[in-house]
Amino acid sequence: MIQKPKGTYDVFDREGKKILYLQKLFSSLMEKYNYEYVRTPVFEMSELFHRGVGDTTDIVTKETYDFIDRGGRGMTLRPEGTAGVVRSFIENKMYGRATQPVKVWYGETMYRYERPQSGRYREFYQLGVEVFGSTDPMIDAEVISIPVQFYQLLGLKGIKVHINSLGDKESRLAYKNALLEHFKPYLDTLCEDCKERYHKNPLRILDCKIDADKEIMKNAPKMQDYLNEESKTYYENVKKYLDSLGISYIETPNLVRGLDYYSHTVFEVEASVEGFGSQNVLCGGGRYDGLVEMLDGPSTPGVGFALGLERLLTALEFEKIDLLGESGIDIYVIPMDDTKEYTIRITNILRMNGFNVDTDMMNRNIKGNFKQADRLNAKYVMIIGSEELNSQILTIKDNKTQEEFKIKEENLIDFFDEKIEVEE
Ligand code: ATP
Ligand code: MG
Repeated sequence: MIQKPKGTYDVFDREGKKILYLQKLFSSLMEKYNYEYVRTPVFEMSELFHRGVGDTTDIVTKETYDFIDRGGRGMTLRPEGTAGVVRSFIENKMYGRATQPVKVWYGETMYRYERPQSGRYREFYQLGVEVFGSTDPMIDAEVISIPVQFYQLLGLKGIKVHINSLGDKESRLAYKNALLEHFKPYLDTLCEDCKERYHKNPLRILDCKIDADKEIMKNAPKMQDYLNEESKTYYENVKKYLDSLGISYIETPNLVRGLDYYSHTVFEVEASVEGFGSQNVLCGGGRYDGLVEMLDGPSTPGVGFALGLERLLTALEFEKIDLLGESGIDIYVIPMDDTKEYTIRITNILRMNGFNVDTDMMNRNIKGNFKQADRLNAKYVMIIGSEELNSQILTIKDNKTQEEFKIKEENLIDFFDEKIEVEE
């Protein structure tokens, strides 16, 4: 038997329902914030990610799915959402719109060749947003508020927001030099990756998972001490807006995040429930003011985040939050004798009037059909035998109370409209 590739999973049954629920909730939240939906290709020219995500990130150096297409072009399955959205922003000239900033959201599968473990897959799903064109710290706070609001709507309690500022270019340069000096005498004690990061992008050393607990990491210089006045003010303003939103946060000086392109604000949201496990970062994001220009667009500031769906589902389970509640269909229609043509017509009419309806396709007997109605958790059962067919008076049973109704076909919709609340 052929099995699914390592690190992937199928979505079905309750999992499918939960995922649809989360996607719907997120999309309705995005409507409230006035973000527009975008979708970009699952594969892009490899160069996009090498330049966009950065050549010193694990994502690009170790984790991409690369392939040569039949035309000999180097392609990569998207490992994250931002680079593709930025490409689309530039290619579709969204920077020319009158309605700046451009605020978009996406929900897509991502691909990374990682070691599969709990909370870490090779194909996984991210919801995210990107905002282009504004350097107002208010937008940073808005972007941070979205996942926080989303998790709150879902009822998650154990979440912590970590924030930090990487400052502007000038501040980062000063900080980089301080880091180079700090780590220089200890270079031999760092892991192989960090040795390379030291030369290519020393900030990323702070994001190392292997060296994280070493003393030399803990007493590394702090970004805060290298922020220039402008960067400091920017950071203070972001925090001020978070305060007005009533969002509590933890300032985490070592937070640099995995991607090369961040500036000023960076943040992560963590599920901080005991025993949750080590893959506890639910969401990450920040400001990337240089990225659009780096990908050949006009100099445009940007800020965004991405949240993982799999870890969110685990967090919800962990906090015993049931997304589905009692689910079931509105009406189960039972054809008896030879009434299938009438049954399929009535079933369709009910569906088109907004009810969730199913009927028998397995030629069950009446007992089997009532069992099926119970399995589907149907609110009402409608029986269509030859008597109903001839009289066009339908027999309906409340599947809970067993109360029986005789309703004329022409009054059917009115009857159910009164009994069943139709979801918009
Ligand atoms: P980590 O440090 O855990 O590897 P990351 O920094 O690589 O995370 P991002 O690129 O910031 O993660 O992605 C944002 C979110 O996407 C993460 O917080 C996580 O919820 C989710 N995510 C990232 N990689 C995976 C994966 N391999 N499987 C499942 N979810 C993932
Ligand atoms: Mg990672």
